[in-house]
Amino acid sequence: MPTPNPRHPNFPIPGGPVLRAKGWRQEALLRLLENVLSVGEDPDNLVVYAALGKAARNWASHGAIVRALCEMEEDQTLLIQSGKPVGLLRTHTRAPLVIMANCNIVGQWAKAEVFYELQRKGLICWGGLTAGAWQYIGSQGVIQGTYEIFMRIAEKRFEGSLAGRFILTAGLGGMGGAQPLAGRMAGAAILCVDIDPQRAEKRKAVGYLEHVAPDLDTALAMIDAAVKEKRATSIGLVGNAAEVYPEIARRGIVPDIVTDQTSAHDLVYGYVPKGMSIDQVRSLREDGQGQLMAASRASIVEHVGAMLDFQRKGAEVFDNGNLIRTQAREGGVSNAFDIPIFTEAYLRPLFARAIGPFRWMALSGEESDIARIDDLLLSMFPDNRIVTNWIRLARDNVPFEGLPARIAWLGHGERTELALAVNRLVEDGELKGPVAFSRDHLDAGAMAHPNIMTERMKDGSDAIADWPLLDAMLLSSSMADLVVVHSGGGGYAGYMTSCGVTVIADGTDAAAERLEHALTNDTALGVIRYADAGYEESLDEIAAKGIGHVPVG
Ligand code: NAD
Repeated sequence: MPTPNPRHPNFPIPGGPVLRAKGWRQEALLRLLENVLSVGEDPDNLVVYAALGKAARNWASHGAIVRALCEMEEDQTLLIQSGKPVGLLRTHTRAPLVIMANCNIVGQWAKAEVFYELQRKGLICWGGLTAGAWQYIGSQGVIQGTYEIFMRIAEKRFEGSLAGRFILTAGLGGMGGAQPLAGRMAGAAILCVDIDPQRAEKRKAVGYLEHVAPDLDTALAMIDAAVKEKRATSIGLVGNAAEVYPEIARRGIVPDIVTDQTSAHDLVYGYVPKGMSIDQVRSLREDGQGQLMAASRASIVEHVGAMLDFQRKGAEVFDNGNLIRTQAREGGVSNAFDIPIFTEAYLRPLFARAIGPFRWMALSGEESDIARIDDLLLSMFPDNRIVTNWIRLARDNVPFEGLPARIAWLGHGERTELALAVNRLVEDGELKGPVAFSRDHLDAGAMAHPNIMTERMKDGSDAIADWPLLDAMLLSSSMADLVVVHSGGGGYAGYMTSCGVTVIADGTDAAAERLEHALTNDTALGVIRYADAGYEESLDEIAAKGIGHVPVG
């Protein structure tokens, strides 16, 4: 039985033992599609997160996808082109059930304005990373990544603890909404600015944000009190970051850590320029794109100007993966890239070993299935400090949204081992239903994004998108259930290509074979990608785990 969804009553959370499709594999993908909408930011418009990241091209396409998933046999493959189903072809039972290519625009044409025009004509949609691939699990999807970043900074700058430290950030949307909880879990006092009161209230309602302050004075007083008491807290503030950041700087206050997760990547559908209301921005989106782009960029220049100011005064400042430095540089801030990107600054040694944001979703809809897998994980990897620490924290602090799900940064071999053990639990009837395994596209071999994931690679291979394409072909050859290649849309047009994968553990031997091949090869490619770029950790991992790397020369 689906669970009612009070926030979006038309989008119940899937679950229960009854199948509408002809098998669990098809049913699983249908439930994942339903899930991304149930936890999405604007499901009525099919928007899941990141301003424009959509689950399907339009409602007609969505309806046709649902029908195809319900009617298709296991030996067929559904082809999806930018959120629209275009073919249902006979393949074989070991082939993916769904393959997708979303928003891949030929190089010289891959510009925001071209994307907007194609979208207006109904020819394309952007899938974000996990929206169009039906892998989004709400703000939980990035929460461990955000938490690990804060903890790396704690180790680097604050003797391992963020108690008594002030984090300033902005953006309480689909992904940015993870920040208040991640900051609080890391022990800090975190202030999160968002222009949209509804976003702040939503994060409070789902338990990711503790308080919404009525004004800046109150917010700063609350932060100050928490810092003095070394008490972890999360405070939301409704305001424009392009005004609030410079005002905090003007008052001579220097936070310990500063970042931002507004949708700065999209100057039309994402960022709200200062001095404009959300309604004014909405009315300009169709007819005043040029005006909106100029106004957003001018505000981002001030916003990043304040971030640079904080950095000069000693704060740890980083770009949290929203292209804000790129937009500022285009607006004339020549030193915007003095701010480092989080991947290179804090997480690259993990990615070099293909340790990244792995996730699983309980298709039964039962939270007890996730609790059982938490126990399994703790017993299987007792020496993996990152994972055991995270699971203990997450089970106490991270509320479920939509289908119960968990994320954990696991690496090569570990992901396969866990998935196979879970598949056995499904087979033995110890879980109430099958489990879907997936990961963020921001993963070792899966993403080329020269201003986020692959910035300043050791060998300069930042812009080479062969790796995600190889990954997708490899995953199709490795029997994954869903394989997708995404490129950037809106403000990300021309900036990135990524690959996504989902594999269903339905307790069968065939599922075990699919999980083993797909998950093992996915991380193998990740390690090989970094080894090829010259990272020592990757070469060690190749030697330690016997990964089939072909050294040249
Ligand atoms: P979203 O569109 O759901 O939310 C963006 C939020 O920013 C909204 O709540 C909006 O009201 C707010 N906002 C816009 N302009 C503002 C301004 N000037 N001042 C204050 N608030 C403002 O997007 P999201 O899914 O939360 O993603 C945010 C950004 O993070 C995107 O650029 C996305 O691509 C990026 N992202 C990064 C990672 C990562 O791994 N680091 C992961 C996912 C997304």
